[in-house]
Amino acid sequence: MESCGGVKAWTPLVEMCLTADAYISTIPFLMARIINIGIANSDTSYITTTGLAMIGIALFSLLFGACGPSGPEPIEVHKDLCHHCKMNIADTRFAAELITGKGRVYKFDDVLCLQAYVSDLVADPKAEVYICDYADPGHLTPLDSLVFVQGDAIQSPMRGNIAAFRDEKQLQEYNEVWKGIQIDRGIIFAQ
Ligand SMILES: [Zn+2]
Repeated sequence: MESCGGVKAWTPLVEMCLTADAYISTIPFLMARIINIGIANSDTSYITTTGLAMIGIALFSLLFGACGPSGPEPIEVHKDLCHHCKMNIADTRFAAELITGKGRVYKFDDVLCLQAYVSDLVADPKAEVYICDYADPGHLTPLDSLVFVQGDAIQSPMRGNIAAFRDEKQLQEYNEVWKGIQIDRGIIFAQ
């Protein structure tokens, strides 16, 4: 319930990014070897093998070196604080996360607290927003893949009373009890 399963899938990709960064730093070294050993000794096979290795590394780094953001950071229950209201995040059905274009991670305990940062979002086109799926607590899901319902019966920590779902059918099942109103994400995050 506490961790976000989606993040695990990203781990090999992140490792590849780190590996690519480490490899790319060897390119100037290999270039120097080609000049100092290959060219100095007129050793064409050395030049060819080292040159090919260098090209291979450059291609690998191109593919994996600039992977960019690697998905949301898992919410740690009772440890992470809401960036806005400073309360402990205790209920992962309602938690949310904003990752700025520069990679800063802000966590929230309620969509209401995240809404306070909408103007930051507009100013930062590379920012990413994830909100937990109510039916799958802790699963931080990209904002664009969610549908929302708001109602007093939802009882979120800061009384934003908004629940997010990946699956609209599940939203409707819960909402048979809540009797809330389905709202568009564009309205929630309108300035
Ligand atoms: Zn909060």
